[in-house]
Amino acid sequence: MISLHWAVFQLPIHLVDYVVAHELAHVRVAGHGPEYWRLLGRALPECRRLKTELDELGRRVWMGDLA
Ligand SMILES: [Zn+2]
Repeated sequence: MISLHWAVFQLPIHLVDYVVAHELAHVRVAGHGPEYWRLLGRALPECRRLKTELDELGRRVWMGDLA
């Protein structure tokens, strides 16, 4: 069972795929060590590029803060 923050679904679909793959990889490997990135890289070869894109876009996603 994985859960995703609702704000994820504001992202373009290829980044939603990245977030889902990221969470699924954590079912096998906790943390973000080399073993984690090796596993995620097998499932999603472009994971590094997608991570960079998500880091960039994620800062502009609405998180429910109305202030
Ligand atoms: Zn993670």
